[in-house]
Amino acid sequence: MSLHPRARIHLDNIVANWRTIGSLTADSETGAVVKANAYGHGVAEVGLTLHRAGCRTFFVAYVEEGAQLREAIGADAEIIVFNGAQHEDRTIVQDAALVPVMNSIEALEDWLSYNRTEPYAVHIDTGMNRLGVRPADVPRMFDLVRGTPLSHVMSHLVDSDDPQCVLNTRQCYTFGDLILPLTRVRSSLANTGGCFLGQMYGFDITRPGIGLYGGGPTPPEGTILRPGMTLEAPILTVQTAGPDETVGYGATRELRHETLLATVALGYGDGFPRHASNRGFACLGGIRCPIMGRVSMDLITIDVSAASDLAKPGAFAQFIGPEAPLEEQARCAGTVGYELVTGLGRRVRRLYD
Ligand SMILES: *Cc1c(COP(=O)(O)O)cnc(C)c1O
Repeated sequence: MSLHPRARIHLDNIVANWRTIGSLTADSETGAVVKANAYGHGVAEVGLTLHRAGCRTFFVAYVEEGAQLREAIGADAEIIVFNGAQHEDRTIVQDAALVPVMNSIEALEDWLSYNRTEPYAVHIDTGMNRLGVRPADVPRMFDLVRGTPLSHVMSHLVDSDDPQCVLNTRQCYTFGDLILPLTRVRSSLANTGGCFLGQMYGFDITRPGIGLYGGGPTPPEGTILRPGMTLEAPILTVQTAGPDETVGYGATRELRHETLLATVALGYGDGFPRHASNRGFACLGGIRCPIMGRVSMDLITIDVSAASDLAKPGAFAQFIGPEAPLEEQARCAGTVGYELVTGLGRRVRRLYD
C-alpha cells in the first residue's frame, strides 16, 4: 500500500465554529464563505453539512464554485458570487440560481442592460480600493437599481484582523450611512475578523470564512474555534545521521550531534510551503519535531529524536491540527492560514469523519 499525505476534515468542528462565530452577532443571520473549495476542505461536503446545520446563505468567488455548491445543497439557499458574472455565464447563473455581485458601476450598468429580472448583489467600496462601487457613484447606483431585484448589498473590511484599527469603525459607519435608503435589501460587512468585532458589524448577515476552518485572527476572549482539518504525512523512513552531516538539498541543515531523522510523504508538490524549510514543524504524539533542511517536492525530513518511540514507518506526523495550530505553522512558513489551507493540492487525500 502506498503512503500518501492526508487531510482529515472535521465537519463537526466546522459546524461548531459556524455556531460559535454566529453567537457573536446573534441578531444577524450567519452565512458561510466556501470559496476556493471551502478553503481546501471540500465545497460539497462542507456546504452540505452547513446547510443541514441551518446555513441558508453561502458565498463563493466563481460561478463554477457556485454551481458545484448548488448541486450539493439543492435549491433552498442563496449562493452569492463575489467575483460576479459575465455575459457568457448567463446559463450557469440561471441554472444554478446564483446571485452575482456587481463590483463596479460599469458592471452594474452592463448587467442591467440585459437582465432586469434575476436577483443580483452590489459591492460598495468603503476603503479597500479593490472591488466595489465607489461611494461617489452610490447615488447613481440607487437610480439604476430602482425597480430591479437587488437582493444583497455588501462591503468589505480592510483591517478587521486588528480590533484597534480606526478603519473598522469608520468603514462600519460609512457603509451603514450609504445603504440607509436601501431598506428592503439585505446587507453584509463582516468577514471572520468583522464578526469578532461584535454585533455592530453584523448588519443583516455575516460572511465568516477562515474562522469556520479554525484559522484567522485571534478570537475574542472566551471564544474557542476548533481545527477544520488535520493534515498528516506518513513516515517513510527513520534513520540516524550526524554529527557533521547535513540534511536535504543544498545541505542547508548541519547536524551537530547524532540525530534521529524521519522522512515523511509531504512536500511543496502537495502545496506545503517550501518557505517552511528549517522553520516549520510536525508533531508526533504531541511532541514538536522541527523540519530539518529544505522542504522538497514530495518529502520533508523532521527531527524525531524527542519522539523516538513513535517514529516508525507508517506512523503519521501532524503538520496542521489540534497539536499543530494552523496559524502557527503558517507563521513559520512566512504566510497566513488562508494560504496554507487553500494551497493544499489534490495529492493530499481528503477524508471525512
Ligand atoms: C473571502 C471573503 C470573506 C471571508 O473572509 P474571512 O477573513 O476568511 O472570514 C468575506 N468577504 C469577502 C468579500 C471575501 O472575499
